[in-house]
Amino acid sequence: MSTTVEKHVFQAEVNEVLSIVVNSLYSHREVFLRELISNASDAIDHLNLQALSNPALLGSDTELRIELIADKEKGTLTIRDNGVGMSKDDLISHLGTIARSGTKKLMQSLSAEQKKDVAMIGQFGVGFYSAFLVADSVTVCSKRAGSNEAWIWQSQAKGDYEVRLGEREGRGTDITLHIKEDAKEYLEEWSVQSVVRKYSDYVRWPIRMQVERGEDKETRTEWQTINQARALWTRSKSEVTKDQYVEFYKHTSHDWNDPLAWTHFKVEGTHELTGLLFVPV
Ligand code: ADP
Repeated sequence: MSTTVEKHVFQAEVNEVLSIVVNSLYSHREVFLRELISNASDAIDHLNLQALSNPALLGSDTELRIELIADKEKGTLTIRDNGVGMSKDDLISHLGTIARSGTKKLMQSLSAEQKKDVAMIGQFGVGFYSAFLVADSVTVCSKRAGSNEAWIWQSQAKGDYEVRLGEREGRGTDITLHIKEDAKEYLEEWSVQSVVRKYSDYVRWPIRMQVERGEDKETRTEWQTINQARALWTRSKSEVTKDQYVEFYKHTSHDWNDPLAWTHFKVEGTHELTGLLFVPV
């Protein structure tokens, strides 16, 4: 296997986004997990869609899921999915450039104050880079569905990134965050779980986390599903918090603002209907 390491420089717009991320006030830095889980969920959606016409893409790996692995010894948090994955070219074009033409204009229109608040980063279509809110180095290992080559992308957000051939068992993507000294809480089970419940509870694929259970010497690790994976509107009102309604609205509408009002209703007759109606500001 070739061990050649290619160095690439980021497109100027990416450096601009990275400098905002790195210099932000961190007031909402937990959003990194929402963004990476959302990308993982999209990747699984894409695979699922492609597999309708090409079932071979699924192979024997049919349990579509997102996994979170915290390794305190190594100081890493990994977000893994068995979605569509990325080829070498995908890694370079998706994680080295910003495709949306409006992004640069939008970034320039932000005031200095707004730039410090990273909560809206996902709205620009640059959510991946929020990984650098909590990580000083990010490693992506990905294998595109249908391919037998895995590729590694690695960066410290200092203007460039490296690409080299890697290894991965099946299709999908591992995003490994080398967690910053002052963000170690994201290696803790309770912290990761509470962020997932707050922002990603309604993601429709299971989000599983390896957790330690038992006492002292008897501890064992097991996988636990930490999201409800149930559409918000199918739950009863009493089960849904205000934050969850607001997050769901922002995620689906791509609006930066909180909704002005919303109603969650049920109509019963020959057919039963439940709905969620939001009023934007
Ligand atoms: P957006 O998701 O809004 O397009 P991002 O910066 O978050 O912007 O991601 C850029 C692109 O990188 C995505 O559009 C997608 O093509 C690719 N990507 C990111 N994460 C994954 C993943 N886990 N699996 C497959 N592709 C991914």
